[in-house]
Amino acid sequence: MRDWVLERASLPSFIDFLSKRWKVVAPQRRNEIHEFRELEDPADLCLDYPTTMLPPSRVFLPDGEVLYRFQPNSPGSAAAAAEERPIALFGVHTCDLEGISVMDEIYLAAPIDRAYARRREGAFIVGIECAGPCVEENLCADKGTNHTERVYDLLLHPVDEKRFVVWGRTNRGNDVAEESGLFRPATHQDHAALDDFRAAQARMFRPKFGLRPDELSARVRASWDDLLWVAQSRLCISCGACNVVCPTCHCFTTRDHLPIREDGLGERCRYWTGCQLESFAKVASGENFREKKSQRLRHRIFKKEVYGMDRFGRSGCVGCGRCGHFCPADIRLVEIFGQLSGKEVTYA
Ligand code: SF4
Ligand code: SF4
Repeated sequence: MRDWVLERASLPSFIDFLSKRWKVVAPQRRNEIHEFRELEDPADLCLDYPTTMLPPSRVFLPDGEVLYRFQPNSPGSAAAAAEERPIALFGVHTCDLEGISVMDEIYLAAPIDRAYARRREGAFIVGIECAGPCVEENLCADKGTNHTERVYDLLLHPVDEKRFVVWGRTNRGNDVAEESGLFRPATHQDHAALDDFRAAQARMFRPKFGLRPDELSARVRASWDDLLWVAQSRLCISCGACNVVCPTCHCFTTRDHLPIREDGLGERCRYWTGCQLESFAKVASGENFREKKSQRLRHRIFKKEVYGMDRFGRSGCVGCGRCGHFCPADIRLVEIFGQLSGKEVTYA
């Protein structure tokens, strides 16, 4: 790990430097929301953003991507998808860095998902630490995801109006910092500014329900027959928004498109789907093994807190708060976990 300083005034030049090698994808405002999209003008960069609606992990798994093209009635004629320009993902919150690391565990484990791996392995990632919680529903202080040592090449700490103290975690991150000519090594004064930033963060980030990950997992595991699932899912409209906005939800379906292209090839495409949709657990015979909204809500939370722990030894929820923030029925994880921990957390 090396630590550097980047003056805020040098940010546009750094973006220009990155864009020579990568397609820079960064948070920008669009009407009332923020989103990660290709940054064409550094002036559009918005680093002081509340959470984006779609998480940056989706950049590596775009909805509707062509997995391969094929000659109908001719098995074995599949062609690999075309190569794309590698991505520099810029300004990723620490909870979303954790989200990408969960996706890596899923998609880069055998059997490796080649489309994900191709995008992910070429990517350069610049994270940013938040000065305080970005939306009221987030759980990052409880989940410990307001800090991370995972995934990023460079991590920005916005210590004041003039500069970022930047950690270089990977050789590539440090090489880029050096080659750009825009970074200088951090000094004693910069470290002191970082200490002040840390102290301010500690005042801002307060755990909401205060359970260790294993304790929360045990409470969720014991709640299978709890009526809270019925009560909490009462207003759910099964829209699946909570799945789509989640940085660690990873289910997909595929569809083949056979209105043939000019070159005579069909396409197999991948689309996002999610366990809160009514049809998700419906099987060919017509049976739906999670027919009730309460079963689907319970499954989503068990998938994060119980099955994630069993399979990976870590929670599948990184505490970003999106599922509650963007739920049209105001179903919030923080209230569910609050009830399970005996510390009720409610919002107006
Ligand atoms: S976003 Fe809310 S209403 Fe929509 S499926 Fe999820 S919990 Fe239900
Ligand atoms: S379950 Fe909700 S709070 Fe947890 S990572 Fe997914 S969207 Fe974020």
